[in-house]
This record gives sequence, C-alpha cells and structure tokens, in this order.
Amino acid sequence: MKGPRHLLAAWGDVERRMRSVDQVALFIDFDGTLAPIAPWPDQVRLPPRTREQLELIARKDTMIGVVSGRRLADLRTRVSVGGIWYVGTHGYFLRRSGGPTVTLLNPEQRAEMAKVGRRLARELHDVPGILLESKQATVAVHYRHASRQNYRKVFASISQLLKDHPELDLLPGKKVWELFPSACVNKWTAIQYILRLEQRVRKSCWLVIYLGDDAMDERVFSQMQGISVVVGRHRRTAAEFFLNSTAEVEKFLEKFSEAVK
Ligand SMILES: [Mg+2]
Repeated sequence: MKGPRHLLAAWGDVERRMRSVDQVALFIDFDGTLAPIAPWPDQVRLPPRTREQLELIARKDTMIGVVSGRRLADLRTRVSVGGIWYVGTHGYFLRRSGGPTVTLLNPEQRAEMAKVGRRLARELHDVPGILLESKQATVAVHYRHASRQNYRKVFASISQLLKDHPELDLLPGKKVWELFPSACVNKWTAIQYILRLEQRVRKSCWLVIYLGDDAMDERVFSQMQGISVVVGRHRRTAAEFFLNSTAEVEKFLEKFSEAVK
C-alpha cells in the first residue's frame, strides 16, 4: 500500500483541488492536532498563533469546525474562536458559535452511559493514576499515569463491563480507553450532519479537508471523501496526507488561509 504524502510538500496539488470547487470545508481535531498533547487533558492549550490563524479563516467565506472527543463546553472554552462549528464528545454534541446545541444522543443511550460511568467510578475510584471522565455520551478512562499493575486492574474492570454490556463499543485512544453506546455516531456522522444543514443555506458542494491524529480520526479518514490528513507519527493510516506535528498544522493553516477567499 502506498503511504500518505507530506501535505506541505504536495501543497501545489492540494491548492489546485481547492480551486476546482465552489467551497472548502475544513474540520480539525483538537488534542494532538491543533494543540500539543500535555501530561493531563486539563493542561492542553491552543497555541496563540494557531488561534489567530483560526480567527483569520473564520472571517473568510469558508466553513470551519473543530471536532473533538472533549465535552462541547470544554472544547469551546479551550478554542474560543467565534464564527465556527464545534463538535464535542466524538460527534454526539454540535453547535455553531451563537447557535443552539444539537445532540445526536438519544435518552436511552444517555441513561445507559450514566450507569456505565457510575459503575466504573465505583470500581476505579481508588486506583492511582487513573482519570475517569463521564461525558454523557461516552465514558473515558485515562491511564497515562497508571502503573502497569493499575493498568491491569482497569483493563480487567473494562473487560468485565464489556462482557456484561456487549452492545457497548470500546475505542482505544492515546493512553485512554473510551466506551461508546454504539458505533452509529462518530465524528464523520456529525460532519455530514453539519454539511447537510449548511447545504440548505449555501446550496453549494464542498471539498472537505479533515485533520486528525488518533483512532477516532482514522474512522473519519476511512469513511470520508475529500482530503484526509493524519498528524504525528503514523503507523497504518487511511489518510491521503500527513503532517509531522501540531507546529506543521499551524503552517498548514497559514497556507490554507492565504489560499481561500
Ligand atoms: Mg486528537
């Protein structure tokens, strides 16, 4: 299989593809893509230069969204750019700046995931190095700071939970296990929802550009049509292009901003 090409090295081709359509829609993951990973999720900050680039692009006639596994409110606070779309909890919650929040989560799934969150909180509350996050639609267990022995405890707990709830979906991310109610909603589902909404107003066709660095983003790469970009060291990827770091993502944003109207 041919590997991905470096996005900046192939910029001439990318720009030509952007010029061949009416509109470009840019969707970008947050942690590890726009912002460098930090020891704890709470310490992740958007670099000021990156925020400036996003603000510049938001003022142009281009659709732009930040798509994350984080809770919507947390994501909006961390990015804090007006005039763009925000997608939180891997696609379950979406909102355009100034607009209402839309959820793709149904009440049964919400109740089920609250139960899962309570059970894991009971079982893991005294395990050091573990951070448990109940995000309404999903439950994330961060283990970046857990010892090997404690990691095994978490793994056993999650394995038993999956035996008791075979309908749940488990997704491993960067030092995190995340439990989902089902595989029917993901970041790409949410992006398609946004495109359909915007299409009613703008009546045009978009070239979608998507950047991400993690397993959930791979799901987008393998389902989407458009320009897919994996960020960071890539093993096997369905993405067409790659960038090495969040610093290169900032360089891309500069080029992108110059290229769009
Ligand atoms: Mg990420």
